[in-house]
Amino acid sequence: MATQFDAIIIGTGQAGPSLAARLAGAGMRVAIIERKRFGGTCVNTGCIPTKTMVASAYAARLARRSAEYGVVLGAEVTVDMRRVKARKDEISGRSSTGVETWLKGLANCTVYQGHARLESPREVRVGSEVLSAEKIFLDVGGRAATPPVAGLDQVSFLDNSSMMQVDFLPRHLAIVGGGYIGLEFGQMFRRFGSEVTIIEMGPRLVSHEDEDVSKAIREILEAEGIHMRVNAECIRASRHANGIQVSVNCTEGPPDIVASHLLLAAGRRPNTDDLGLDRAGVARDAHGFITVDDELRTNVPGIWALGECNGRGAFTHTAYNDFEIVAANLLDNDPRRVSDRIPAYNLYVDPPLGRAGMTEAEVRRSGRPALMATMPMTRVGRAREKGETLGFMKILVDAENKKILGASILGTGGDEAIHCILDIMYAGASFTVLQRAVHIHPTVSELVPTLLGGLKPL
Ligand SMILES: Cc1cc2nc3c(=O)[nH]c(=O)nc-3n(C[C@H](O)[C@H](O)[C@H](O)COP(=O)(O)OP(=O)(O)OC[C@H]3O[C@@H](n4cnc5c(N)ncnc54)[C@H](O)[C@@H]3O)c2cc1C
Repeated sequence: MATQFDAIIIGTGQAGPSLAARLAGAGMRVAIIERKRFGGTCVNTGCIPTKTMVASAYAARLARRSAEYGVVLGAEVTVDMRRVKARKDEISGRSSTGVETWLKGLANCTVYQGHARLESPREVRVGSEVLSAEKIFLDVGGRAATPPVAGLDQVSFLDNSSMMQVDFLPRHLAIVGGGYIGLEFGQMFRRFGSEVTIIEMGPRLVSHEDEDVSKAIREILEAEGIHMRVNAECIRASRHANGIQVSVNCTEGPPDIVASHLLLAAGRRPNTDDLGLDRAGVARDAHGFITVDDELRTNVPGIWALGECNGRGAFTHTAYNDFEIVAANLLDNDPRRVSDRIPAYNLYVDPPLGRAGMTEAEVRRSGRPALMATMPMTRVGRAREKGETLGFMKILVDAENKKILGASILGTGGDEAIHCILDIMYAGASFTVLQRAVHIHPTVSELVPTLLGGLKPL
């Protein structure tokens, strides 16, 4: 006999727990199922632990630069990786426990621990139990994909999850993947003291960003001593007396890298291959993402897919927004849609990259008349005062309706300053509203109106 609920949620990542709370609060009997740690990727192996480690790496970097600020430190700066990890574990563990305690304390909500599989469009199996409900919500997230690197069966390698156990300093960390995960780990371990080589199969880092942004990031990382190998179309790993040999066919640089550790950071895949989707008739695309409509309904009535597993966003804020969309439609008679969302994200290298809307390349491809302005961070007083003047800002505006199309802020505080642009985009207002706003001195945001004053035809 199946245990009856009104709603079953699979996964306690960034959409599931909030949805459980809303549905249970509305009087529904809710079951939520988690197979690993509460809080999912962001809390346990993604955003929170990596940004905690990025903060340790920033502290190490600042300590090494202390003399520039007139601060005299006694001895050579060293990093205690056990303490870095302990701090990370403490902060991320507290978040995970917080989610678990919250869910277990919710009225009308039953928490199950174990791997969940759909048995039918209305039934889910967890271990020996079968649960049934008229509404099922899939928030199963994703995991690291293994890139096509020959010889991986011969060597041991790390991914974003196993990196969380590293409490020592790798002598030489080779990273396959020049996307945001690879770059964040690369810079932090370089700052901790490792030799780092980033191997990217494409011609440049973070290839979906504009070329000038990608080039500036490369220069920033290379200036810290990170080795870059791009155009590495063919990568082979093998054992070596001193660790792991990674052979690359790059046009520049030696053909072999001998590293002590290998991190694979070349993409993610959705956790949809062992979810019983076929039994329920839920459709997936060629990459395994569950196909959904603009309100996150799957092809099977009564089943929704939220978060990374639907391929409509690969971030915590997009997963959380998925919860908001589903809750608004189901409970508030408020027709929120995925297509209302403006693409926005940060890359947490230092200085960070804040991104909103379209890139310059996308605007050019769209063929619409546009205006663009750029400004180096050396012109930003706040950046000069902090001694952090690397990077630049760029903004694009539609020449006809005066609305902001997109922006990139690569620079200190760029991860926060981008929001003044994002919010004007959400307001659908003309760029002149932002240009005439009086921002607080001294900040990075203060220069955004000045940046807009420099708009020129693209
Ligand atoms: C290294 C790294 C850094 C990142 N940094 C950032 C960042 O700075 N900012 C940002 O916005 N995003 C970041 N992300 C992305 C972010 O972590 C994810 O986009 C976000 O966690 C997705 O949330 P989700 O709810 O879709 O899935 P998840 O958080 O992955 O949660 C899914 C949950 O479902 C569970 N589950 C899966 N299958 C089953 C099953 N069959 N039965 C039971 N339970 C199951 C999983 O165990 C997991 O707990 C980062 C990711 C990584 C890997």
